[in-house]
Amino acid sequence: EVVVVGSCMTDLVSLTTRLPKAGETIHGHKFFIGFGGKGANQCIQAARLGAKTLMICKVGKDSFGNDYIENFKRNGISTDFVGQTEDAATGAASIIVNSEGQNVIVIVAGANLLLDSEDLKRAANAICKAKVIICQLEITPAISLEALKMAYSNGVKTLFNPAPAHAELDPQFYTHSDIFCCNESEAEILTGIPVGSPEDAGKVGLVLLERGCKLVIVTLGAEGCVMISVDEPIPKHVPAGKVRAVDTTGAGDSFVGALAFFMACYPNLSMEEVIRKSNFIASVSVQASGTQSSYPYRKDLPQDLF
Ligand code: ADP
Repeated sequence: EVVVVGSCMTDLVSLTTRLPKAGETIHGHKFFIGFGGKGANQCIQAARLGAKTLMICKVGKDSFGNDYIENFKRNGISTDFVGQTEDAATGAASIIVNSEGQNVIVIVAGANLLLDSEDLKRAANAICKAKVIICQLEITPAISLEALKMAYSNGVKTLFNPAPAHAELDPQFYTHSDIFCCNESEAEILTGIPVGSPEDAGKVGLVLLERGCKLVIVTLGAEGCVMISVDEPIPKHVPAGKVRAVDTTGAGDSFVGALAFFMACYPNLSMEEVIRKSNFIASVSVQASGTQSSYPYRKDLPQDLF
């Protein structure tokens, strides 16, 4: 089983020709609501590939929260530990995108920040018997760390995605992650090393190994990613296939969800194979628009992946 401790966000997206100025009201030409939040995205991708999944998160006691729970159920995800609070609204991201594709975004984390130690204690049994746990930083970082430590000390494989990046990351995140997976900008914020190539990503990997990570993956968009581990401290570039990208939003979450799926369901695969397959899944997701709406289902993928 894959357990995700993380965030849910409702994306409220308006498409306009240009971005409004302060105090201005403008008309947009399209509006849609999407399901997002890094934790939920990762859980959805793992579920669509066929993993047994359980989400630990908090939403508001409001219509967005109800809709999100339905979304998890539709995707076959266990919602036993999806809490609903009256003290905050479901996390929301108000997004305005202009015709050049530039955007302005306001995120109100809301209920996500109310996920607390008591919630983790209630779910302790599920956390401790999981195959893989995924944590990120869109909830209170101390709660994310607590979940990671609870899993780690019980021999559960821990997959940590330090997103959105915090420059001052508690060093215990490094020492309690079996897999530490970040993108280029997160890598730079954590290490101060600008990442523009697989070589740079390799340097980041070496720094993070020194901080106590066991296996580091730095994703590089169309370039795939670089992996490095304590067992084999030589950076290895695992390229992604060439595809026509339509919308890369949420590609990183598709990748992380796929990693967890392959680690949990195919424990005998090498990490390099797991990464190669996850690159493929994420590269499929960039060929359709939207976030979760672009994540592929097992039945639509080449069966030799499984
Ligand atoms: P994030 O979404 O966090 O910025 P990346 O852009 O690094 O993450 O993308 C994550 C993964 O998605 C990559 O490692 C790769 O597997 C896949 N991917 C992203 N963009 C492309 C692309 N243009 N072509 C093929 N694969 C891609």
